[in-house]
Amino acid sequence: MSAHAALVAELERAVGAEHVRADAGGGWRVSPGAAAEVAEIVRVAGRHGGVIVPVGSGSRAPRVRGVERPRVLVATSRLDQVIHLDETSLLCHVQAGITGLGLEKVLSPRGLSMGDYPPSILGSTIGGLVAVRTPGKSSARHGFLEDAVVGLSAVLADGRTIHTRLAPRRATGPDLARALCGSEGTLGFITSVVLRIHRRPEARFLASFVAPTMDAALAATYLALREEAAPAGLRILDAAEAEHWFGPGTASGDEAVIVAATAGPTDLAACDRDLIASAVRAEGGREGPLALAETWWKRRHSAEPWPGPAPTLQVTATPSKLRGAYHAVRGAVTAAGASARAHVSRFDTSGAVLFFTFPDQPGLREAAEVAARAAGGWLLGARAKELDPYLRALRGALDPDGIMNPGALGG
Ligand SMILES: Cc1cc2nc3c(=O)[nH]c(=O)nc-3n(C[C@H](O)[C@H](O)[C@H](O)COP(=O)(O)OP(=O)(O)OC[C@H]3O[C@@H](n4cnc5c(N)ncnc54)[C@H](O)[C@@H]3O)c2cc1C
Repeated sequence: MSAHAALVAELERAVGAEHVRADAGGGWRVSPGAAAEVAEIVRVAGRHGGVIVPVGSGSRAPRVRGVERPRVLVATSRLDQVIHLDETSLLCHVQAGITGLGLEKVLSPRGLSMGDYPPSILGSTIGGLVAVRTPGKSSARHGFLEDAVVGLSAVLADGRTIHTRLAPRRATGPDLARALCGSEGTLGFITSVVLRIHRRPEARFLASFVAPTMDAALAATYLALREEAAPAGLRILDAAEAEHWFGPGTASGDEAVIVAATAGPTDLAACDRDLIASAVRAEGGREGPLALAETWWKRRHSAEPWPGPAPTLQVTATPSKLRGAYHAVRGAVTAAGASARAHVSRFDTSGAVLFFTFPDQPGLREAAEVAARAAGGWLLGARAKELDPYLRALRGALDPDGIMNPGALGG
């Protein structure tokens, strides 16, 4: 029996032949039906010198270096169950392969929800979302998705399984679940997650505002957030972007449009809306037509298509650096004789994301990136490479043979 045939035979024994198939990109795609099967697959791959590549909804094609090693793609599509729902504690223990939509379908009839995260969360698996710590999937109301993780179970490179939630709250020591969040399957294969969930909001209010400038719109937003307004969604559009999304005459000159949604118990949702309104007034702005916010909300929830194209550049910055990053990128584009439009969203206390759209002309994107970085912005998704020695030490200790997703996190 060839070495590869022996590997396949063992994988088939672990999960059943019907759940093992050759993958078009090379290697084998295996679909375990239980966490114990994931552990067995990892052990089998390790024995045969293979590598493990976790696959959630597969929204990004896996990157695998060292293709000469047998590749075992482990799909979580069959690990899609709610293990336990505690409606009193508002905790939900789910298998890693359940999608946001699958979970909402279980929670919604019970008056519960994962919370007000961007709707793009719905197609991803919970394991994939936690494994990537997707920077774009945060909420001003609930924070980042990984903040909702109160514990998880994962299979390590040697096939051992760890459970970080042994008690309601660990009394001492580091929170080891944090290391697995964002590790993209390099430190462990996440098999299940205990998530904090929320009651479905009793009320939802939409509102739009017009601020005299982008700076005033950003200042008003952070004034409201510092006063602990927790909107379900909020977006600022500069005048050019507002015209693109909502039509001519929406805002003029340097003006900016703010669209906001607040949610929760009726009194709190109204209070959040009023906090935003008074912050906008304090910065010299006024209320805008409700129809703008209604259009934004419908498009956000895919009830209407967004007018394309996708943004050219996504930059994230802390609240104090957002204005500088906005003006730096606009300045770089204008200096090249082009024009840019922008919106800002994904607000939370740590910052927000600026989405710029400008023409695809030689060198312009690079110049804009340099300007954004010089102003203290970060390109969205950039990893803190300064921490690589720490990450390499963790990877080396947990996975000396480098079998866990070797192409992820820069290899
Ligand atoms: C570096 C990076 C940044 C991204 N940033 C954004 C963003 O800002 N906004 C946005 O909308 N989308 C972003 N994405 C897309 C991202 O793929 C999705 O947000 C989401 O994480 C994918 O869920 P999924 O189920 O499709 O996972 P997949 O795309 O299948 O997998 C994503 C990564 O996680 C690993 N993985 C999957 N499941 C597990 C598991 N159970 N245990 C361990 N590892 C696992 C995979 O091997 C892969 O490396 C980003 C993706 C990457 C890789």
